[in-house]
Amino acid sequence: MSFDFYLPTRILFGKGKLNELSRQNLPGKKALIVTSAGPSMKKYGYLARLEEQLDKANVEHVLFDKILPNPIVEHVMEGAALAKERGCDFVIGLGGGSSIDSAKAIAVMATNEGHYWDYIPGGSGKGQPVQSDPLPIVAITTTAGTGTEADPWTVITNGKEKIGFGYEKTFPTLSIVDPELMMTVPPHLTAYQGFDALFHSTEGYLNITANEMSDLFALKSISLLGKSLPAAVADGSNEAARADVALANTFAGIVEFTSGCISEHSIEHALSAFHPELPHGAGLIMISKAYYTFIAKSGTSDERMVKMAKALGKKDASDPMDFVEALHELQVQCGVDSLKMSDYGIKPEEFEDLATNALETMGGLFEVDPCKITHADIVQILRDSYR
Ligand SMILES: [Zn+2]
Repeated sequence: MSFDFYLPTRILFGKGKLNELSRQNLPGKKALIVTSAGPSMKKYGYLARLEEQLDKANVEHVLFDKILPNPIVEHVMEGAALAKERGCDFVIGLGGGSSIDSAKAIAVMATNEGHYWDYIPGGSGKGQPVQSDPLPIVAITTTAGTGTEADPWTVITNGKEKIGFGYEKTFPTLSIVDPELMMTVPPHLTAYQGFDALFHSTEGYLNITANEMSDLFALKSISLLGKSLPAAVADGSNEAARADVALANTFAGIVEFTSGCISEHSIEHALSAFHPELPHGAGLIMISKAYYTFIAKSGTSDERMVKMAKALGKKDASDPMDFVEALHELQVQCGVDSLKMSDYGIKPEEFEDLATNALETMGGLFEVDPCKITHADIVQILRDSYR
């Protein structure tokens, strides 16, 4: 038994916690607020509430609101230049995973020379060590999907390469998880994000590096999602369901650094790198049944798949395929069982290139899979998932 548990993030969890931001020991005097290009942070007043809190704490702030749902490296470089130019001494990510991940990457580039891809250890990235510590990062999450508020990871796209990066200095110093800010997420996005959180936990649970600590958070996260994701999708104003899903997501973030994702995420990143309009969670849902069927058939993870099926609510589970069945059931309950690759312009002719991209950009995750998954297997998983 062994594990390495390091979480240097203060996590403030609960309804109304955003209102306590001004009372926190903030890590600087001038913040770069990184948020999405979309209207929701302004429309629902979250940005104004954040700015009011910062004003109360006598912290100056500069706004950078250009982030796209699949965030791109150009905006990382632009945000970092703005932080340098305006002398910001910390970064706040406000929004979903894309805004918080961008905030982390901007924090790195605000204190370092060169291009962000110089530091990326995959694809055409140069994998150089980061010279200077990033600016401190504060995360305020308004979705329950990526778990980025509780892990060091940031996923940025450069052309057709969508790659995760992070190390102990890219953990947020402070994260606010306030389920009240998630009430306005529409049903389909609640489902996509909830399944992303679910897969962070299920992948982390099947990962060969899984351990007592990651298992604790993974199984709890899976059971919270099985219990409450359908209710949060059906009625976004259901406070108890939103809180369960938010907690499941934060726990899934902890799974992401105590254990970690496996190749389901590499395959999905290829899909959404080639088709940036495809939401990450939707891409995961599309490939999930074929992917987990492959693992079930491998015979490497029988006991763990049965435990995951039980955590999802299938109490009489006894076979690894029971997990795939429970997963399908949850997708039906959340109205996401009939997502189609073809609706996003994905074509079977791309499967070879997608498999190559998955192996080249995020090949490391295949090394922690519980079973061997080859290029041909990836193509087959994509074929089985296609409609
Ligand atoms: Zn994910």
